Amino acid sequence: MLRAENINVYYDQIHAIKDVSFDIKEGELVALIGANGAGKTTVLRAISGLQRPRRGKIIYKDNDISDMEAHRLVKLGISHSPEGRQIFSRLTVLENLLIGAFIKNKQSNIKGDIDYIYSLFPVLKDREKLPAGALSGGEQQMLSIGRSLMSSPKLLLLDEPSLGLAPLLVEKIFEVIQTLKKNNITILLVEQNAYQALEIADRAYVLESGVVKLHGAARDLLNNSEVKKAYLGG
Ligand code: ATP
Repeated sequence: MLRAENINVYYDQIHAIKDVSFDIKEGELVALIGANGAGKTTVLRAISGLQRPRRGKIIYKDNDISDMEAHRLVKLGISHSPEGRQIFSRLTVLENLLIGAFIKNKQSNIKGDIDYIYSLFPVLKDREKLPAGALSGGEQQMLSIGRSLMSSPKLLLLDEPSLGLAPLLVEKIFEVIQTLKKNNITILLVEQNAYQALEIADRAYVLESGVVKLHGAARDLLNNSEVKKAYLGG
């Protein structure tokens, strides 16, 4: 579904991603793990059109999308739930969700999409009319994922969905990620919580200082001694 071929991404002089290649097959849940600053967010930004690779190619469903603008990528089915949630705190929960549907025309079933998101996260329905800034951290994270689902993505990019959440909420978020996979959404999941990410992923890539250090089946990486030592607390 998506293939990155030797991509190099810079922030001015900072060479954040160095000759990184990976692929994601339709229906897969692929995890991207690595320490702070390894370049995980930058990889997601490169896919969703927020940071262009200076060299290398990103191919999505046989189209070269390396230079494509972010809003066109949303239309093609790529949606990004960013780190830090970035919800609109003065708008209501419902208004935040509606913003996620900006590419949809009036004929599309926006009400049905909202009901689907409320079935995944019932608490959002209870809070529908509240300003999003009044939600707890976990609820804001649910809203961020919900908003990115409103464009009916085929490929969902999730950046640190469990960051800063209490264990029960982390469980809930991971359950929903598995439900989305069952509902045929292909997912690239960036996580600091490497153990839980590897437990639900099909395959994973380990990034270190902007380079792919290791990749393979998630269950193999769970048992890999290097991964255990560096990311799974021994
Ligand atoms: P984290 O988990 O801390 O977000 P990460 O693996 O997602 O880490 P990135 O945020 O992609 O890593 O950062 C990769 C590198 O690029 C780091 O060295 C970081 O300092 C640098 N970087 C990220 N964003 C910018 C920016 N806007 N301007 C300059 N350098 C940046």
